[in-house]
Amino acid sequence: MKKNSITHLPPSRRQFLRQFALGSGAFAFGAPLIASTPLIIRKPAKKLGVALVGLGNYATNQLAPSLQDTEHCYLAGIVTGTKEKEAKWIEKYNIPTKNIYNYDNFDQIANNDDIDIVYVVLPNSMHAEYTIRAAKAGKHVICEKPMGLSVKECEDMIAACKANKVKLSIGYRLHFDPHHMEIIKLPKEKPFGAVKYVNAEFGFRIGDPTQWRLRKNLAGGGAIMDVGVYCIQGARYATGEEPIAVTAREFKTDPVKFAEVDETVTWEMEFPSGAIANCTTSYAFSTNRLHVGMEKGTAEVQPSYSYRGLAGHVNRKPMDFPVKRQQASQMDNFAQVINSGGESEVSGQEGLLDLKVVEAMYKSIKKKGKRVKV
Ligand code: NAD
Repeated sequence: MKKNSITHLPPSRRQFLRQFALGSGAFAFGAPLIASTPLIIRKPAKKLGVALVGLGNYATNQLAPSLQDTEHCYLAGIVTGTKEKEAKWIEKYNIPTKNIYNYDNFDQIANNDDIDIVYVVLPNSMHAEYTIRAAKAGKHVICEKPMGLSVKECEDMIAACKANKVKLSIGYRLHFDPHHMEIIKLPKEKPFGAVKYVNAEFGFRIGDPTQWRLRKNLAGGGAIMDVGVYCIQGARYATGEEPIAVTAREFKTDPVKFAEVDETVTWEMEFPSGAIANCTTSYAFSTNRLHVGMEKGTAEVQPSYSYRGLAGHVNRKPMDFPVKRQQASQMDNFAQVINSGGESEVSGQEGLLDLKVVEAMYKSIKKKGKRVKV
């Protein structure tokens, strides 16, 4: 807040000062009212309009409902290739028809001032294309995880956003969950000494064998790309360091279903301080845990990566936080970042750093578990 802002005053007093400053009072006497401390009357920050691109499961069941709980942004538009979805979304969310786009006319979104942020919620292989197109349309972008299929794609996305002077953020909702915020603090504040060990596991049994998540061209990979990235994230923010090397192995129990993508992967990450992370991701079984070993204590969140119902402790002191939609906090944070001119804590760089680890993991798997430098 600026020093001379009047926003700290009670509403009635602010209103009085504004009216007095703007109306007859302040200048009627030929001089400003408060010469030594001039009033700065600032426009209230605008609520930013978000357009969701791709109305699948995550956009429909998590993001759109979360946008009903946001304070700094709102659901302004949609981009869909399915005509029948349009009427449903218009009815449910009162979206004006002028804010509805399909994949062919998407670029015309550039001319729509209602849309400030484009949120890309498409299959992984489409993240780079739509992020770059949104940036060229002059819109800020939130792109879902994994950011892209390769480090090169991530670099291109970051460059496009930079060239078009728009901000880029990745859908890493857990940075805005209070349980994970406690974990993020550990390497900075060291309440129980240095972080030495992380165990991160996220897996679930995947259903429909025909879905895009099992096609390499659309998903880029299997469990690693989908939920393994949460473990990479967890290990990175629990240690507060960037890994220097990984060692990874893949295990397949269903080579037909997982012919194109990885099924279960276990891996280790080595950090410059000597800290290590031991991680597992799977499309074959459920596991959901983030455990941190410090010199003089432990911290844990389990379940750790779900949308709600997270539970945890820091050295046996339970984490007890009010329930709030992670996605609402995540999108509100990005809107505030845009309004304040700052940088997102989960910027494109975060997504890129994860993809560096992913690429090293696939190299290590190919070399049958050989240590690969990141
Ligand atoms: P989904 O399959 O339910 O939805 C995908 C959407 O993309 C559908 O609306 C589909 O019609 C559309 N689409 C457009 N072109 C397509 C094509 N060629 N093939 C298939 N679908 C196409 O998937 P989802 O679960 O909503 O996931 C979408 C993205 O969101 C993924 O990148 C995923 O990793 C991410 N996601 C993130 C979270 C999170 O917690 N941050 C959770 C779930 C999904």
